[in-house]
Amino acid sequence: MQITRNTNATNKGSADWFTGDVWVDAIAAPAEPARLQGGMVHFAPSARTAWHTHPLGQTIYVTEGVGLCQREGGPIETLQPGDRVFFEPGENHWHGAAPDRFMVHIAVLENDEHGVSTTWGEHVTDEQYGA
Ligand code: MN
Repeated sequence: MQITRNTNATNKGSADWFTGDVWVDAIAAPAEPARLQGGMVHFAPSARTAWHTHPLGQTIYVTEGVGLCQREGGPIETLQPGDRVFFEPGENHWHGAAPDRFMVHIAVLENDEHGVSTTWGEHVTDEQYGA
């Protein structure tokens, strides 16, 4: 058993991977042989991830606010608290806050055999976001 007290810093999401203000709290960090990782992510209004894929997929669960998500080639979907989204392995997508609302989600995903959980692509432009 390993207890981690409330000592982990909240980390600012890298500008390489996010647009706008995004803050991440680690819920679960992979410890071999386990591959599970989880995070709670706070997005400021209009903040969002870049386009990306997850080799083993990802589940997000919205806890607060209003969010948006989109898979490549699909419509932009609005997300409310209690909504859960599963992104398929390899499915190119983004997720973030609505233009005028904060959004918080829990994210659950797994590392692949190379320790990779996410492959990052281009930023979501204002035009793509609809801002
Ligand atoms: Mn994702």
